[in-house]
Amino acid sequence: MDEIERLQTQARLAARAAAPVRPAAADLERARRGALRVLDGQLARLPATVRSQPACRRGCALCCHLRVAATAPEVFALASYIRSELDGPALAALLSRIEDSATQLRALPRAQLTATNLPCPLLDGAGACSMYAARPLNCRAYHSLDYAACLASFQRPDDPSLGHPQSVAIARVHAGVQQGLREAGEAAGTDTREYELVTALAEALSDQDAAARFAAGRQAFAKAIVL
Ligand code: SF4
Repeated sequence: MDEIERLQTQARLAARAAAPVRPAAADLERARRGALRVLDGQLARLPATVRSQPACRRGCALCCHLRVAATAPEVFALASYIRSELDGPALAALLSRIEDSATQLRALPRAQLTATNLPCPLLDGAGACSMYAARPLNCRAYHSLDYAACLASFQRPDDPSLGHPQSVAIARVHAGVQQGLREAGEAAGTDTREYELVTALAEALSDQDAAARFAAGRQAFAKAIVL
């Protein structure tokens, strides 16, 4: 087993151990924080020989125009964070943007879902994530070693052959954490589907029953797009 594979396996096992046996909100938040601690710890242990410097910079929001897959616990955590950060007109404006985006996404033919550049409604006016602290794991994991490749892909969203280089080490440690959380969810009998972020977030913020469905081991979101 090479060093990166060992770190990926450690990340998977640690994330699984940190996850809850019951799908209660407090347990889920504890698990999310535990998984992030595991993630940061494993990334810090990556050997210098496999570290690469991402080309990502604050204000570059190209990847925030892609579709994001997120699990129900991540979506609930993000919804809760939004409600803790905003209120009044600011919250109402964001809820409206999220609902508008979700309506557009749900209306798209499935084949076009990943071929459009609809911006994430959580982007602020400066091209940064307004809810950065609670962004899902896939947003945390996403990075690029080549800005030009990202730009080419952004300009041709209908061409799936266009990609960009990523750090294998970073991607695999993230994959380990996500696999560990998925295994824990399966063991607890909870919904481990991956949902399109915006449509799931719109539902988490508007449907009081979504969390209860998840806690009962049922599919959390009825209208969100399952990826
Ligand atoms: S949640 Fe934040 S980081 Fe993720 S796509 Fe939306 S704006 Fe970007």
